[in-house]
Amino acid sequence: MARFTGNVCKLCRREGMKLFLKGQRCFSEKCGINRRDYPPGMHTRPRKTTDFATQLREKQKAKRIYGVFERQFNNYFQAAVRQKGNTGDNLLILLERRLDNVVLNLGLSLSRFDARQMIAHGHVRVNNRRMDIPSYLVCPGDEITIHGTDP
Ligand code: SF4
Repeated sequence: MARFTGNVCKLCRREGMKLFLKGQRCFSEKCGINRRDYPPGMHTRPRKTTDFATQLREKQKAKRIYGVFERQFNNYFQAAVRQKGNTGDNLLILLERRLDNVVLNLGLSLSRFDARQMIAHGHVRVNNRRMDIPSYLVCPGDEITIHGTDP
């Protein structure tokens, strides 16, 4: 699946908050939002916010935090709609179950981009089998290990 290769600090500046996309740099003085705390682009005057604009920004924020593009995000949304219960909760559960997110939350990497690279390079094993798909959905009870370490 495709990934964003542009300047990720611009994404934080666009959302007006830290999205922690760059690992250690996000906690340092060099954080892009510390240095330029305004949206990217030439025409940055404040605009009137509407309900649609608020919803759009929240959706874009979720996509950017989890590193997914529109089509994949829409697939997650359709899957969440098909499940029983609250669609918003189901959507977040699906996003949280992504293998790159789980690797980050286990503290095995500093950012989702690092986690994604570790997985794509075959360093992560799920239930003792090599798994190189960052969007793999982890299930309760799955055992996640790093290649070359004891489970
Ligand atoms: Fe966002 Fe700051 Fe990290 Fe850049 S360094 S990705 S602006 S939190």
